[in-house]
Amino acid sequence: PRMSVAIDGPAGAGKSTVARELARRLGFLYIDTGAMYRAITLKALRRGLNLTDEESLKALANESRIELTTDPDRLTRVFLDGEDVTQAIREPEVSRHVSLVAGLPGVREVMVRRQRELARCENVVMDGRDVGTVVLPDAQVKIFLTASPEVRARRRQLDLQAQGHHVPLDSLIQEITERDRQDSCRSVAPLMPAPDAWVIDSSHLNAEQVIEMIAARVLG
Ligand code: C5P
Repeated sequence: PRMSVAIDGPAGAGKSTVARELARRLGFLYIDTGAMYRAITLKALRRGLNLTDEESLKALANESRIELTTDPDRLTRVFLDGEDVTQAIREPEVSRHVSLVAGLPGVREVMVRRQRELARCENVVMDGRDVGTVVLPDAQVKIFLTASPEVRARRRQLDLQAQGHHVPLDSLIQEITERDRQDSCRSVAPLMPAPDAWVIDSSHLNAEQVIEMIAARVLG
């Protein structure tokens, strides 16, 4: 039977690293749902749309082609109407506005439908905010991965450093705390663990330890 693993949690908890490697070991597809919300946010920003106008944002989502590569052996590439936007969707401008766009019920309806479609006939590891609660409530294994804001900011700082950017820790902690607030206080799909999720705090665990814990649960 088809298997799915849901990995939810706040920004910077290490979801994508863990989800991708887990998918690789299990031979599952890896689906990054955040990338889909980022792509639609990018398109709305480029068009200068009012990001609170639900009708036009929902229409935009409906008419947009968003494609993700799902091969866990490679970095996820994201295509918006055929254009490679892999880099563009990670820009700070997109990160600052994505929670707003993802908070529109009409936009979520379109995205959730597409995400379910992607998992319908394949074994997947899917990461996001509402995978275990909304997108795939029947997932066999549900993980809620967290870490303290300090640890998440530090990991983000190391990532950025590897790309040659030096950003002070304080401002990263502030950014992460702000996105936590946006994601958990919005009225639509607020971030919270599914009642049957296994909550893993990775503040004192490395990626390998987390991956092994989850793999053991999936295979066990
Ligand atoms: O995972 P990532 O940080 O790229 O997600 C970007 C944003 O998209 C999140 O901060 C959240 O507001 C939104 N999102 C969501 N539901 C998902 C995945 C992401 O609302 N399943």
